[in-house]
Amino acid sequence: MRPETESQLADLIRGTRESLSITGGATRLWPGEGQGARVDMTAMIGVTLYEPEALTLVVRAGTTLETVRHTLAAEGQMLAFEPPGAPGSTIGGVAATNASGPRRVQAGAARDALIGVRFVDGHGELVQNGGRVMKNVTGYDLVKLMAGSRGTLGALTELSFRTAPLPPVTTTLALPGLDAPGAIRALTSALGGPDDVSGAAWLPGHGALIRLEGLAASVKARAADLTSRLSTFGTVVEGDPDAWRLLCADAQDATLDTWRIICRPSEAPMLLAHLPLPLFLDWGGALIHVQLPAGQVPQLPAFSGHARRISGASPAIVPAQDPVTARLERELQNRFDPRKTFAGQT
Ligand SMILES: Cc1cc2nc3c(=O)[nH]c(=O)nc-3n(C[C@H](O)[C@H](O)[C@H](O)COP(=O)(O)OP(=O)(O)OC[C@H]3O[C@@H](n4cnc5c(N)ncnc54)[C@H](O)[C@@H]3O)c2cc1C
Repeated sequence: MRPETESQLADLIRGTRESLSITGGATRLWPGEGQGARVDMTAMIGVTLYEPEALTLVVRAGTTLETVRHTLAAEGQMLAFEPPGAPGSTIGGVAATNASGPRRVQAGAARDALIGVRFVDGHGELVQNGGRVMKNVTGYDLVKLMAGSRGTLGALTELSFRTAPLPPVTTTLALPGLDAPGAIRALTSALGGPDDVSGAAWLPGHGALIRLEGLAASVKARAADLTSRLSTFGTVVEGDPDAWRLLCADAQDATLDTWRIICRPSEAPMLLAHLPLPLFLDWGGALIHVQLPAGQVPQLPAFSGHARRISGASPAIVPAQDPVTARLERELQNRFDPRKTFAGQT
């Protein structure tokens, strides 16, 4: 099913008796997702409104991330949260997963740049924030709610984003001698200082990576300050500017399961002691991607975040949920999708 308009989508949802799975480019369905009848959103494309001077973009959900990037770049702009995505990813998929790249440490996540949504809920009703807010959803911050909702509450049809100017100059500093646990202290120090760091990551073969962006003179001064402050952790050299793109690359070994661990950076060294060499660390150590043999669950001590398998061939492993989150999810589903039409998701 590939609806072309909101009313076709609404009719489809209202009339269905089977469970539905909403997909964009289907590039990053989690294990267990996509089990219902697929509703492919890629026919709902196009930029509805772009006002560069007002830093506002309104775009239909099936539009590819590449198209959005090109549209904005033509006006010297970008989405500040640096959306990651494989070729074919849609902007609806980005919003539905709250996907955010390395600049999250400075500019926030997709959720923070999203300023408006339109979606069709499980009743088959078109809902939008502002304007014609449906009576039954008054009281919810729909934008925050839908960012990261992964097709469980409704099918997003249109998104409004705040855009940002592209930085004129970018510099990457690297501490190539640091291993993953050793990098955390350097990244934490860089992020905690006055130098307005826009990326703090670790990659095998590259070591700790720190990014600075802005006007040339400012970047130069901040790079000098950081180089001096970080010299206590090791030798600071000019880093590979392409390394940031490697953080957005898919894992190479498809026979393994990829796990995504979100934690406090202070807990990351303790967790890394129980894991194989990570694919990368980002967000100063708050995000760890690691690959494990198919079906193996990471054996981690208690920590204040969560681990989730995001790709791999073994069957879905649904992480235990704390009772408060489980109750909130149940209540939201009762409000937006009482027939459990979107139950094809986990
Ligand atoms: C390096 C890298 C880092 C990434 N980091 C993150 C991350 O931090 N967090 C994260 O979750 N993802 C992350 N991703 C995955 C990213 O979300 C996807 O690449 C892309 O955004 C998904 O787009 P898609 O159109 O292919 O979505 P799909 O794969 O089709 O769908 C992904 C999810 O979004 C839902 N969805 C898609 N379109 C809609 C819609 N219109 N309305 C409602 N729901 C919809 C689906 O039901 C599914 O749950 C990362 C990807 C890469 C390559």
